[in-house]
Order: sequence, then structure tokens, then C-alpha cells
Amino acid sequence: MSGFPLAALHRAARDRPPPGPAVERCDMCAAELDGGHRHLVDLLDRRIMCACHPCRLLFADDHTHQRYRAVPDRHLRLAGPVLDGRAWDELQIPVGLAFLFHNSAREQPVACYPGPAGATESDLDPGAWDRITAAHPVLATLRPDVEALLVRRGADAYLVPIDACYELTGRLRTRWRGFDGGQEAHAEVDAFFARIDGLSRPERRTP
Ligand SMILES: [Zn+2]
Ligand SMILES: [Zn+2]
Repeated sequence: MSGFPLAALHRAARDRPPPGPAVERCDMCAAELDGGHRHLVDLLDRRIMCACHPCRLLFADDHTHQRYRAVPDRHLRLAGPVLDGRAWDELQIPVGLAFLFHNSAREQPVACYPGPAGATESDLDPGAWDRITAAHPVLATLRPDVEALLVRRGADAYLVPIDACYELTGRLRTRWRGFDGGQEAHAEVDAFFARIDGLSRPERRTP
């Protein structure tokens, strides 16, 4: 019986990339990223891209017309109910969870809600958005495409980076059961809101 080519096997194992989680890289320049890296939004393809710090800085300015925009790191807890029952009814979303943002490509506010197929986007009545903004003037500073108003029926509302909303949507997609998401999805939402709350400072309201 011939010997097993163990040396060759070892060599092959050595040449293979090490096991474990794949290294995340900047989607712009391929630099290696750590777990706490930040993101850009690709406005054309509507997708989130991982980015290193120097690449993010290139796209930090909202006022230049560029394809990519850096996602800021602002987390605010809004005081009082942001959407009342009427506003929820007007939104016409089947679940009590949504994120609202200004879509600059469509030049209007939109509402997204998570579900088994990911995020569903629908137009938000501009009148409804104006009412919300009048009650919470800080929302006039919401940066298009990269910041969102995250709302949950009967809970606090938060101004958050939009990548957080897509992260939540991604987590819910795989756990969604039935019409409203089911128990596991609800637990996921609870944990997510607790984390966002921990990151948030209160909205400063002018009297
Ligand atoms: Zn980069
Ligand atoms: Zn990333």
C-alpha cells in the first residue's frame, strides 16, 4: 500500500486561506475592515457598501452630487409619540414597524417596512411627512438617503443611520414567520430597539 501524500496535503492546507470568518473589505478600495466599520449608500443601486475611513471621507458631503454618500453616526431618541394612530393608518403598512427617509432619487419621503422578502418601500404622503416634521423639527435635519426615522407602533421613535435599518431588515427576513413576523422576529426587534436606545441621546427640543 502506498503512503498517503501527507506532506502534499499539508502544503495544500497551508496554501488555502485560513478558516473562520471571511475578512471584510472596503467596497471602494479593498482595504481590510474591522467589525466596527461604517458604510456608504450607493444611491444609484440603492445598496449599502462597506467602507474604510478614508473612503467614507470622500463622500461625507451631502451637497455634492455624487453616486455614493457616507452614512453618518447620529442616534437620537425622539420625545413623545411621533406617529399617532391616524398616521399609522395613513401609512398603510401591515406591520407596526417602519423606517421613513427622504429618497433623493425619487425626490420624496418614503416608508419602508420589513417582511419576509426584505424591505418593502412605499411612497409617503408628503402631507403626512410635513405634519410629522412640524411636530419634530429635528426631522428637518434628517439627511436624505442616509438617515432614517425608525418607528414602532406604541414605542419610542429614533433618528438613526440608515444602515441600521437595513441590518434589522436583514435579520428579520430570515426569521419572519406568518403575517406579522412571529415570536422570533418580535424578540429580534425588541433586542434591536434596546441596542438603538443605548446608543441614542435624547432629542433636544426648543421650548
Ligand atoms: Zn476604502
Ligand atoms: Zn459592512
